[in-house]
Amino acid sequence: MVKFVEIKAKSILQKQKFRDNWFWNRYGINPYRGCQFACNYCDAITEKYLVHKDYKDFSRIIYTKKNAPSVLEKEVRTRKPDVVAMSGVTDPYQPAEKKYELTRKILEILGRRKFPVHIITKSDLVLRDIDLLREIAEHTWCSVSLTIITFNKDLLPYLEPFAPSPERRLKAVDKLNKEGIQAGIDFTPIVPYLLDSPENIEEVIKRASEYAEYILIGAGMTLRSNQRIRFFELLNKHFPELVGKYENLYDKQENPPQDYIVRLNRAAYEFCKKYGIKNYIPPPCFERAQRENFDVANHLLLIAFFKEFKSANPYSAWAYHKASQTIEDLNESITEISKRKALEELPGVGKSISRVIEEFLINAKSERLEKEMNTWYNKIK
Ligand code: SF4
Repeated sequence: MVKFVEIKAKSILQKQKFRDNWFWNRYGINPYRGCQFACNYCDAITEKYLVHKDYKDFSRIIYTKKNAPSVLEKEVRTRKPDVVAMSGVTDPYQPAEKKYELTRKILEILGRRKFPVHIITKSDLVLRDIDLLREIAEHTWCSVSLTIITFNKDLLPYLEPFAPSPERRLKAVDKLNKEGIQAGIDFTPIVPYLLDSPENIEEVIKRASEYAEYILIGAGMTLRSNQRIRFFELLNKHFPELVGKYENLYDKQENPPQDYIVRLNRAAYEFCKKYGIKNYIPPPCFERAQRENFDVANHLLLIAFFKEFKSANPYSAWAYHKASQTIEDLNESITEISKRKALEELPGVGKSISRVIEEFLINAKSERLEKEMNTWYNKIK
């Protein structure tokens, strides 16, 4: 039995220090705390995010921020429109949304104020709001990612006991794209030993490629604090033969080893090439001041995305993140700075990144990105 507790939020629109290069968001909104889908791998029950006293209540007590729309209405008046991720922590279309309609009310406000939106969910309830999403897509930018980690009906009851079936999610992706709303798949997490076989990876990517605009690959499932405790409870009860394998793979770390992640990323990448689907969300387009600076900044973030994806090292592209942020924050046009040969004077922009910028300003593309996107591809040939 799920209990709903109404709470009052002091603030709702959370600004991030840096732009995310997976979902392109700069803000996050979470209208609910706790999630009824109760996925056994969920990392939102880690101590960092947890608001429940006992992590086992995460899916039994759902806190609803009933005043979220009125708080947001005030906040958006003083904020510049930029991509909002719904939700950063819990599912915005969990069953509670049918009753409370907080996500819908929030989308109405964001749409009126021309804030671009990225939605991530496991529920086809998102189709209820297709009118609002279409409007946002027409006037600014919108992308919807439906999570699918497998179509294996034997495993899903253990991993995602209360989420809608992957077939329903795939149909939702199809419908959204047909309605002019960019939609793709979030293949996160690839659960070690249960879902990391080439057969599962290929099936998810192949079926996604029939309907989705993109598929994001999340090979590094975390196991930390309460998430780790809960996942090992699942293993001990239903997959005891995997306990030792997980202990070996993770040891005392929160992530699997880099070489394991790289191997899966590469396998997934090859399937993406085979089935002709992007493994990234193309950077957003929407009206804003210094639009050219924004495009350059996002180009650098996309290079960073590929560097990180291929190395499984979150620090491998720090220079690109830093340079991107510098350029996004500039008041002066990047073209003017380039004309007076002052790109290298910008904080974080060295010789090699300034060359990428110059090339992008002329051709709207760069060899660096092409190389980062295609290196594995060339090696395979
Ligand atoms: S849908 Fe997302 S937030 Fe909800 S339980 Fe599953 S992983 Fe956690």
